[in-house]
Amino acid sequence: MAIILDGKKLRDKLLEELKLKIDRLSEKPCLAVILVGDDTPSRIYVNNKKRAAESLGIVSEVFEYPGNVAEEEIIKKIQELNADKSVNAILVQLPLPEHINSRRVINSISPEKDVDCFTDTNTGKLFAGQPPAVYPCTPKGILLLLDEYGIDLDGKHVVVVGRSNIVGKPMSMMALNRNATVTVCHSHTKNLAKITKTAEVLISAVGEVLIKEDMVVKGCIVIDVGISKNSVGKLCGDVDFNSVSKVASYISPVPGGVGPMTITSLMLNTYDLYCEQKKRSL
Ligand code: NAD
Repeated sequence: MAIILDGKKLRDKLLEELKLKIDRLSEKPCLAVILVGDDTPSRIYVNNKKRAAESLGIVSEVFEYPGNVAEEEIIKKIQELNADKSVNAILVQLPLPEHINSRRVINSISPEKDVDCFTDTNTGKLFAGQPPAVYPCTPKGILLLLDEYGIDLDGKHVVVVGRSNIVGKPMSMMALNRNATVTVCHSHTKNLAKITKTAEVLISAVGEVLIKEDMVVKGCIVIDVGISKNSVGKLCGDVDFNSVSKVASYISPVPGGVGPMTITSLMLNTYDLYCEQKKRSL
């Protein structure tokens, strides 16, 4: 039976340490979040982020806009937040409505306040092997979880399923920067199972139950990023947990694995941006 990569336990430990640091600050870090439209999952994610921030003493400001808002209005707000010295971190909750050019909006965030490493400037640094302002939250959370369990990626074959800008691409780059041999699979990949069976570490970020026992070799380390619902409407990941956990050596559950680590990274990143901005203003 696989060892569970417990994201909740690590979250509690890291956030307790972070709270002690924030308690010692006279001025508190501030995270600004932009939420557009009324997509229910986005609203839940934003509320969870706000709750986590407030429990740590991070100021969390949410700016809400209707789904038909003009792109320019959001960009104007971001420019105001960029100029506001009391705001340290800016996050635009994705997805944005179709009429809005998401890249343009994201690239209007000042790279120094880009808390999820989404701007082209920070992504470019990440791909060039240079440190960005902070690392993207979900891949960073995954690496923190692997580190906690002493799992070193150096020389390992890491297979990433999914190539989104949010998870798959930065994850593969960060694994490569840790000297892994990386294969990236996606919706056009032929014979996925043949590739996943060569993985020593399998990271799946798709959003449907896809990874079954016969796609994983014995001893594989399995990280499940996906969030979906099973046939009876229960929250689950990309991985068929019951069968895969019998062959994997380590496995992250859904819920309780990568999800709590993503929020933890967001909090750590907000604090790091705050510290960097304070240092620069001295
Ligand atoms: P996305 O929809 O942007 O990307 C999905 C990727 O899966 C695409 O690259 C696509 O090519 C690939 N894909 C689709 N079908 C496939 C198939 N049959 N075989 C192989 N690849 C296939 O999604 P995303 O933003 O990267 O998120 C992926 C999943 O991770 C979603 O379920 C999302 O909710 C979840 N997620 C979880 C967290 C967390 O903190 N736990 C954070 C971000 C995303």
